[in-house]
Amino acid sequence: MPSYDAIIIGTGQSGPALARRLVDAGSKVAIIERKLFGGTCVNTGCTPTKALIASAHAAHLARRAADYGVRIAGAVDVNMKAVKARKDAVVAPSHDGVERSLKTLEGCTVYEGHGRFVAERKVAVNASELAADRIFINVGARAAIPPIPGLDRVPYLTNSSMMDIDFLPAHLIVLGGSYIGLEFAQMYRRFGSEVTVIELAPRLIAREDEDVSQAIADFLKEEDVDVRLGSKVVGVETQGNSIAVSIESAGKNSQIAGTHVLVAVGRRPNTGDLGLDKAGIATDSRGYIQVDDWLRTNVAGVWAMGDCNGRGAFTHTSWNDFEIVAANLLDGGDRRVSDRITAYALYTDPPLGRVGMTEAEVRKTGKPALIATLAMEHVSRARERGETKGFLKILVDRDSQQILGASFLGLAGDEVVHCVLDVMYAKAPYTVIQHAMHIHPTVSEFIPTMLGELKALQ
Ligand SMILES: Cc1cc2nc3c(=O)[nH]c(=O)nc-3n(C[C@H](O)[C@H](O)[C@H](O)COP(=O)(O)OP(=O)(O)OC[C@H]3O[C@@H](n4cnc5c(N)ncnc54)[C@H](O)[C@@H]3O)c2cc1C
Repeated sequence: MPSYDAIIIGTGQSGPALARRLVDAGSKVAIIERKLFGGTCVNTGCTPTKALIASAHAAHLARRAADYGVRIAGAVDVNMKAVKARKDAVVAPSHDGVERSLKTLEGCTVYEGHGRFVAERKVAVNASELAADRIFINVGARAAIPPIPGLDRVPYLTNSSMMDIDFLPAHLIVLGGSYIGLEFAQMYRRFGSEVTVIELAPRLIAREDEDVSQAIADFLKEEDVDVRLGSKVVGVETQGNSIAVSIESAGKNSQIAGTHVLVAVGRRPNTGDLGLDKAGIATDSRGYIQVDDWLRTNVAGVWAMGDCNGRGAFTHTSWNDFEIVAANLLDGGDRRVSDRITAYALYTDPPLGRVGMTEAEVRKTGKPALIATLAMEHVSRARERGETKGFLKILVDRDSQQILGASFLGLAGDEVVHCVLDVMYAKAPYTVIQHAMHIHPTVSEFIPTMLGELKALQ
């Protein structure tokens, strides 16, 4: 039985980086990948969707060319084969880079196949059984498929199969009005598809504040995305060349017929076929591997990193998991998951940059807080760019003067929010940003201005 110092299952965002660090530290490492090197982010998540969003943005701006005094002769036409080819060209170097770097890493053996625990410190892959003192799980997650009657009998799409599309769906029905569904919805509307979003909750991305959900719904509707809220999908069936989705809303039943259905109602960890029971590794009721603040599972010598541990669902949280494990094991550190501050973005246009608590979460704490908001139409940079949708919102603890959270829905919101995030990490008062001189004309120059207008959160 081949024996290693460490086995890593999965080549997502944390596994390959950890393999490099372990090898550098003199360990003999085995890494196992069953499908696409680089995992979700590189192949079917962040990288391809943001590349596709860039194409959709170009189409959108081209349609708005006259707003900028630019003439385009004829209608704007999107070549979906070229859009996909561009996306593939953006993805390929990242995917190939992960694969090549692992396969040429001295001290690291790559196994291509499905890894499965057969005992506490033993993993089977293909015909081999591997043993190691330390095992790191980085198996990620996949699209959750809800038990909707008829769904298994129609050719539905997920974020993964969307990556193969090189044609324009005439009418895309998106099940789920949250982060992934909304990015695809706006993107395909801009490519030229008719798009319907069906969401069970009474508002889009219900985890965000109501004003954020409302603003996003408003700009999607302005682009003629049909948003159906409070709508439960009760059945799906093929009708000739269409797929009919039956919905129940406010006690009434209706049907929407489209050409394609994208299922984007959440994610499930890839842990069901990992033999966790053979190793006694505990999961929660949804299959997420339970870990402590240092990402250790209940079994000594086994760690879980990335989406499969339920402690984050982003590339940066998985990467941060790698940093925590590497720092603690190899650098004598004591880094913890609980040290990190919530931070993520939604890549609609305009994007939403989020850090820390939402306004609703701040209210729930009951602590005295201050709030400031600013509509993007007052931001000169946004006016110059002709992109004035959205607003900025920031919340501060009245007593400590530390920033509690921010929701920046607007031009460059995903970038601008980092000036807030870094000050939060420094545990510095908001006045540090207020007193810093920012560059004109940027969106960031308005953060000090906003902080000068904080009012008590009523
Ligand atoms: C459409 C979409 C858009 C997204 N956009 C963003 C974004 O803009 N920003 C952001 O931060 N996050 C985004 N995410 C989330 C992000 O992609 C993930 O959080 C990130 O990839 C972290 O994944 P991971 O490291 O947990 O593992 P993954 O990247 O999921 O990789 C896990 C790997 O393990 C392999 N594997 C699984 N089981 C086994 C097994 N038993 N044996 C061997 N190999 C196995 C898989 O094949 C896969 O390669 C997006 C996700 C989606 C779906």
